[in-house]
Amino acid sequence: MIKNVKGLVLRSVKYSESDKLVTILTEEGKLFFKARGIRSITSKNAAGCAAFVYSEFILEQRGDKCFLRKAIPLYSTLRAGASLTALAVASYLAELSEDTARDAETGKMVLRLLMNALYLLAKEDRPVEWIKAVFEMRLLAANGLMPRLEVCSSCGKEAEAFPSVFFRLTEGDLVCSDCVSSADSGLVRISREVVALCRRSIESTEERAYALKVPQGTLKDFARFSEKYLINQLERKYATLDFYHQIRHLPGDTAKTKEEQNESI
Ligand SMILES: [Zn+2]
Repeated sequence: MIKNVKGLVLRSVKYSESDKLVTILTEEGKLFFKARGIRSITSKNAAGCAAFVYSEFILEQRGDKCFLRKAIPLYSTLRAGASLTALAVASYLAELSEDTARDAETGKMVLRLLMNALYLLAKEDRPVEWIKAVFEMRLLAANGLMPRLEVCSSCGKEAEAFPSVFFRLTEGDLVCSDCVSSADSGLVRISREVVALCRRSIESTEERAYALKVPQGTLKDFARFSEKYLINQLERKYATLDFYHQIRHLPGDTAKTKEEQNESI
């Protein structure tokens, strides 16, 4: 059976001397196929199967196996000259997307989120850390794991009434300093500013969330919090995330926006 699909290449890995195994994200969810002869320099399909390229694919389904017939690149999200930090975050976001796009419903939402995040990473006018954190929070929300940040889950007082509150990573809710008990585990203390920022990053439209102006200190606290919450909820380690942490402070990378560069002077 021949089928025609459009999708974003999440991963393209060596399978044999001349073949690759390609994972794409479509509006229907994930799809894997074998691309024969794609590692040859004369392959006409190589550009359409490169990571982070949105392409049209003509695929042949034979039993439970799927093979590539043709790949036509339609839109390249990250250019070849993108910074190493931007590429590392893109790989991490792609791995998260592969992990969480389970069916047609989540596939559609995750594809839209990932395409927008990759577009912003390519523009390089917002801090990479911010794009990563907003994506993490919105991805969790799209998967029904939205943190409950309005009130203390024990006494019901508004979180805004406290300079800082305790967030329970496993339950995904807050307890205030009056209600926190020694029996609570997996606690992270977060400031009122981080609570407000987190809510706005999820409740605003995607465009507005990414456009929010955030002081550098609050951004760092929020980024640390969102990553911790995500890892706790998804319960796994991501090699691409470890790589991002290894390279993000390397000198000479161009991922810093003008805003960040000014702050570090
Ligand atoms: Zn309370």
